[in-house]
Amino acid sequence: MANRSQTADHSGKRVYLFGAGRTDGTADMKNLLGGKGANLAEMASLGLPVPPGFTITTAVSTDYYRNGKRLPDGLKAEVEDALDHVGKAVGARFGDRAAPLLVSVRSGARASMPGMMDTILNLGLTDETVKALAAKSDNARFAYDSYRRFIQMYSDVVLGVDHGVFEDILSNHKNLNGFSLDTDLSADDWQDIIAAYKKAIEQETGKPFPQDTQEQLWGAISAVFSSWQNDRAKTYRRLHGIPDSWGTAVNVQAMVFGNLGDSSATGVAFTRNPSTGTREIYGEFLVNAQGEDVVAGIRTPQPLTEAARKEAGETAPSLEALMPKTFGELKQAFANLEKRYRDMQDIEFTIQDGKLWMLQTRSGKRTTKAALKIAADMVKEGLISEEDAVLRIEPSGLDQLLHPSIDPQAEKTVVARGLPASPGAAAGEIVFDADEAEAMRGRGREVILVRVETSPEDIHGMHAATGILTARGGMTSHAAVVARGMGRPCVCGAGALRIDYAAGTMRVGAETFKKGDIITIDGGTGEVLKGRVKMRQPELSGDFATVMQWADRARRLGVRVNADTPREARQAREFGAEGIGLCRTEHMFFDESRILAMREMICADDEAGRRKALAKMLPMQRSDFEELFEIMAGLPVTIRLLDPPLHEFLPHEDKEAAAVAKELNVPLEKLRGRVAELHEFNPMLGFRGCRLAIRYPEITEMQARAIFEAAVNAGKKTGKPVMPEVMIPLIAYRTEFDILREVIARTAEAVAKETGAKLNYQIGTMIELPRAALRAREIAEGETGAEFFSFGTNDLTQTCLGLSRDDAAPILANYAERAIFDSDPFVSIDQEGVGELVRIGTERGRAVRADLKVGICGEHGGDPASVNFCHDAGLDYVSCSAFRLPVARLAAAQAAIKAKGAGEAPTSS
Ligand code: ADP
Ligand code: MG
Ligand code: MG
Repeated sequence: MANRSQTADHSGKRVYLFGAGRTDGTADMKNLLGGKGANLAEMASLGLPVPPGFTITTAVSTDYYRNGKRLPDGLKAEVEDALDHVGKAVGARFGDRAAPLLVSVRSGARASMPGMMDTILNLGLTDETVKALAAKSDNARFAYDSYRRFIQMYSDVVLGVDHGVFEDILSNHKNLNGFSLDTDLSADDWQDIIAAYKKAIEQETGKPFPQDTQEQLWGAISAVFSSWQNDRAKTYRRLHGIPDSWGTAVNVQAMVFGNLGDSSATGVAFTRNPSTGTREIYGEFLVNAQGEDVVAGIRTPQPLTEAARKEAGETAPSLEALMPKTFGELKQAFANLEKRYRDMQDIEFTIQDGKLWMLQTRSGKRTTKAALKIAADMVKEGLISEEDAVLRIEPSGLDQLLHPSIDPQAEKTVVARGLPASPGAAAGEIVFDADEAEAMRGRGREVILVRVETSPEDIHGMHAATGILTARGGMTSHAAVVARGMGRPCVCGAGALRIDYAAGTMRVGAETFKKGDIITIDGGTGEVLKGRVKMRQPELSGDFATVMQWADRARRLGVRVNADTPREARQAREFGAEGIGLCRTEHMFFDESRILAMREMICADDEAGRRKALAKMLPMQRSDFEELFEIMAGLPVTIRLLDPPLHEFLPHEDKEAAAVAKELNVPLEKLRGRVAELHEFNPMLGFRGCRLAIRYPEITEMQARAIFEAAVNAGKKTGKPVMPEVMIPLIAYRTEFDILREVIARTAEAVAKETGAKLNYQIGTMIELPRAALRAREIAEGETGAEFFSFGTNDLTQTCLGLSRDDAAPILANYAERAIFDSDPFVSIDQEGVGELVRIGTERGRAVRADLKVGICGEHGGDPASVNFCHDAGLDYVSCSAFRLPVARLAAAQAAIKAKGAGEAPTSS
C-alpha cells in the first residue's frame, strides 16, 4: 500500500477525468477517487481500452453530509465541463436528441462495499433520445431494451420503486406471448413494456418518469451519496471497521454496450483461479447482455476458455472459440494488469461489436489456499519478492488450512446435515452446556458443544470445545461467526436435531444421542456423523511450507505454544513451535485417576498429611513433564506452578461430595467444611497463584522436584540438554518471588546432588498483575531476581480493566455498540492500557537485567494485531495455542517487514 494518503485535494478539484484524452488520477489515489475510480484511471493510463468518464471525489461526499445533504456550489459547473469532455471523446453530447451521450453512474468507496448503491446503466435515455439510439445503431430492439433496463434500475435505486413491480410486468408480458427468454422479445415488445413501466411508476410515485437528463443525472449522483448512509452500508461498515468519514466517490462513465447483438457480450474474470490459485483465466461471459446479467443468473453464462469449457462439459462455445481476436486482447490486458498491480485481478469487461472495453479491475478475493499458491508462484515469476508474498497472506485465514479433515476413505454414518459454518472436522463427547464443556476440557476431554443456538454467554464453552454444533442459525449466526473467529470447526443450523437440555439428549429421527456419546462434525461439509470418524491431518507442505519458510526468515519474534498435553505439544512442533511458552500444571490433576490425590492433599490436616498426598502426585507429574521434555527435545519449556483456587478441585454438589468423602475416607462434614472454608466471593482475585504456594510451599517443592527429575531423565533419553523455565504465577511483590524462588532453587540443588546431573534451568514469573508490571525493576533485579517474564495477558487484562472475562460478554456487547471498545480486549490486546503495562514491565525489567527474556502467553499470542504489538514492544516471543502458531508466525513476520518499512508498491485492492 502506498503511503501517500489523500483524503482531500487541496487544489479543491472535485472532478477527475479518465480516458477522455486526459486522465487525472492514478492507482494510489484510492482515498480520494475510491477503488473503482482510481483503478479506472490507472487502466486508462496503461493504455487499456476504458470507456471515458470521470470521478467525483470522496471529499464531495463528505461535504455533502457536512452541509445537510447539499451538493457543494461549483460542482455542477465542473461536472458539466467533464461531461462535455467525455462527450467529445465519443462524439456525443449529454441530452442531445441526435447524438445523445449515455452514461453509467457507479458508486465506489475506498474499499469495495456491497452495501452501497447499485450501478445505474444507460442514463440519459428518454422517450426522445431512445429514438436516436435506435436510429444510430440501426437496432431498435437494442435501444428499447436499453431504455427499459435504465427505467428499471433508476426507479429501483433512485425513486425507490420496488423492482418486483417491473418483474411482474415483464413476466406477464412473456407469459401472455409465450416467450421464455428476454432475447425472445422484439423492439415492439420492449416498447409495450416501457409504457407499462412508466404507468406503474407514475402510480407508485405520483410523478412521471423523469425525461430531463439533468434531473436523471443529479438524481443518480445524489442517490450514490445518500446510499453511503443507508442501513445496509452502515451495518457493513460497522462489521468491517470502515470509518463513516471515508465517504464514497461517484463514477460517471460513457456507456458501451454488450447487448448490441451477437458480436457483443459482457463478462467477469479472474486472472488466476481464485479457489485453487492455478495460473489460468477463470471467468464467464454472456453474449448479447449487459451489466450484471452474468451474475444475475437469468441465463447460464459460458466459460471464457476452451479448457474450462471442456472441463465443465459445456456445449455452448467459450469466448476463446467464439471471438478469438477479442479473447487475445483480453488475455493481453490481464497480463498487463497483473504486471502493473503485481497481484491477481478480478476484472469486469464488455465487448461491443467485437471491441473490448475494460470496466473494472481490483485485487481479487481468494481462498487461503489460492492466496498461498498465487504468492508463491508470483515470487517464482519474479513479480513480487518473498517479503511481499509474506505480506499478501491474511494470517487469520491460515486457520482454514490447519484443521484435520474427514478421511475420504473412512466409513461414516451421516445422522444430520447443517451448514458448513467453520472448516475442519472434530470429534468428541456431546455436551449441552458451556460450563460443562469448559470443565471437561479442563480434565483433558474432547467435547462437541451442542446447542440449539449459541449466545455470548457460551463463548468459554465454545472455546473449550473441539467442535460446535447448533440446530438453529445461518452462516452468520453467533455460533458460525464466533467459531470461525476461533478457528473451531462448526456445523450450524442442523434443523433435524431435537435438543432437550433438561433430558441431556439430542434426537434425530428415531435415534437418540445422550450427553457423553461421541459424534464427529465436518465443518467443511456440514455433516454430523455418528461416532469417531477417521480423519486426515492437514497438508502442511507445498506452498504453505514455502511461504511459512519465508515468514520464519523474516520474523524476529520467537513463537511458542501454550500446551499442557503431549498431544498438543506434538501438534505444536508440526506447526513450528519453538518451545512451550505456557504449560499449565493444574490440568494434569483433573484426570479421574489423579484428582483423588489432589483432593487428599487439599483435605489433609497438616503438612505431613499434605506431603503424603503430594508424594503420590510426584511420579505422575514427573512422567507428564518427562514426556513433554522429550517431545520438545531441547527446546525451552515454561512450566507454570499450580495456579487455580483449590476449590476448583473439590466437589460442589451434595451427591458427588458424599462419594468423594467416602473415597477419601473422611467424614462428609469435614469435606463440606473444607469446601465452605475455601469458598470465595471473588476467586479470580483470591487464594490462588503464588499465594497458594506461599501458604503450602510443599506443593512447590513437589512440582519443582517433578520438573527437575524429569529434566534429568529426559536429558539422558534424548541426549539433548533440557531447558526448563519454572514460572511462578500471580506475583505482586518481590518478596513473594524470593520465598518461592528459594524453595525451587533448593530443590534443584537437591536433585542435582542426588542424580549427579548438571541442571540448566531458569526461574521467572508471570506478570499478570499491574503491580508486578510497575515493580518489574525490583522483581528482576540482582542475582536472584526473575530471569524471565511472561505476560499473562488474559489475567493482566482482567486485572488492568477490573473486568472479569467470565462475566464480560454482556458488558462487551453493550460497549461494542456504544463504540467504547474498538475490539474485544480479551481477543485483541488493549494496546493503550494493558499494552502500556507490557511496555513498562519490559522496559523496567530489562533496565536491571539486560538479557531478561520476555514473552506473552495469553490468548492474545495468536491474534495478529496483538502479535504486531508484541513485535513493536520488543518482546522476545509470543506463545499461543497450537492451531494459532502459523498465524502467529506469519503475523510476526509481517510485523517485522512492516517495521522495516519495506512497504509494497500500490496494489489495486
Ligand atoms: P459493482 O460495484 O456492483 O461491481 P459496477 O459499477 O462495477 O458495480 O457496475 C456493474 C456492471 O455494470 C459492470 O460490471 C459493467 O458490466 C456494467 N457497467 C458499468 N459501467 C458501464 C459502462 N460504462 N458501460 C457498460 N457497462 C457498464
Ligand atoms: Mg454489483
Ligand atoms: Mg463492478
